Amino acid sequence: MESYSALVIRESEGKFSKQVENVPFSFLPEGEVLVRVAYAGLNYKDALSARGNRGVSKHYPHTPGVDAAGTVEQSGNLAFAPGDQVIVTSYDLGMNTKGGFAEYISVPASWVVPLPSGLNLREAMALGTAGFTAALALQKLELNGQKPENGEVLVSGASGGVGTMAVAILKKAGYRVIASSGKQEQYAWLTQIGAKRCINRSELSDTGDKPLLAGRWAGAIDTVGGQTLAGILKATQRNGNVAVCGLVGSSSLHTTVFPFILNGVNLLGVDSAEAAMKNRMDVWEKLSKDWKPEHIDRLHHVVGLEEIPHYIDEIFAGETVGRIVADLKA
Ligand code: NDP
Repeated sequence: MESYSALVIRESEGKFSKQVENVPFSFLPEGEVLVRVAYAGLNYKDALSARGNRGVSKHYPHTPGVDAAGTVEQSGNLAFAPGDQVIVTSYDLGMNTKGGFAEYISVPASWVVPLPSGLNLREAMALGTAGFTAALALQKLELNGQKPENGEVLVSGASGGVGTMAVAILKKAGYRVIASSGKQEQYAWLTQIGAKRCINRSELSDTGDKPLLAGRWAGAIDTVGGQTLAGILKATQRNGNVAVCGLVGSSSLHTTVFPFILNGVNLLGVDSAEAAMKNRMDVWEKLSKDWKPEHIDRLHHVVGLEEIPHYIDEIFAGETVGRIVADLKA
């Protein structure tokens, strides 16, 4: 076989197009491990890459896809052999290295995680970077003393990829979850996947001028940033923890020091892209067992590679619900 199918983003006169093409294997970078991709998960960063965001991808033509799971076809590293089932997420995959929306990826062995025994390849991509990030956020909360008995934990952007996974993983870990969403029509679904109750996202962003509000949650996982994060901090209970991982609302943060110096609130950063391999494997192990969401099939939607451009557009419209997983085996 000389070519393979891939979603290709092309730039012409400052405009970016996205289409599925047959490309030669020379399109792939030299890598230690060649993986035949079975499934790839769609993330916000992929949409940025497809739109030509230079902070994510500098060179085009390009294939986005920060998440891929599949079977090793060739390996130049003894750690992996043909036939091994593996997960590759983050590092540079889908950014400036051709990513998962393709039948093949070629990557350094140091990016590759063996598939844990409690997951199949589709479930691994239902979780993907979103589930991994939500789990890293929970790990950070717990390292700072979060426990289910401390009280409810808020999730913002709850119907999105990271938000959905945060709701379901927190529920599996024994927490009572408040889901904040702009989609009232998804409240019933959010309750089914693990939220105890839902609130409208405007409750977080429109909080007035007071620097502090009555404590409403013991902890939070925020995927939105901006005014939403500022509002979350104001209403976090004494010594509560807020893990921040996203910026769909805004990358700016205008707050006061009062939540920190009067209420002892901890603001915790989450970076999945460069998570160390030892911790990466530990977190995937937890995701395959104790933190594996119940009803994982309800949390994602499997689509064909040709449908990915449509879902990329939906991400910018804030319309996606749950995780979108591309099936590359068809
Ligand atoms: P999605 O697009 O799947 O979900 C984002 C959700 O946020 C939407 O579904 C919507 O949920 C809500 N939302 C959208 N637009 C706005 C807005 N303008 N104001 C407030 N809420 C809004 O994205 P992901 O879940 O994949 O990613 C979420 C964020 O996390 C992104 O910023 C992404 O870059 C970041 N991220 C960070 C990682 C890290 O390592 N730190 C790793 C992965 C993602 P609803 O309607 O329910 O409110």
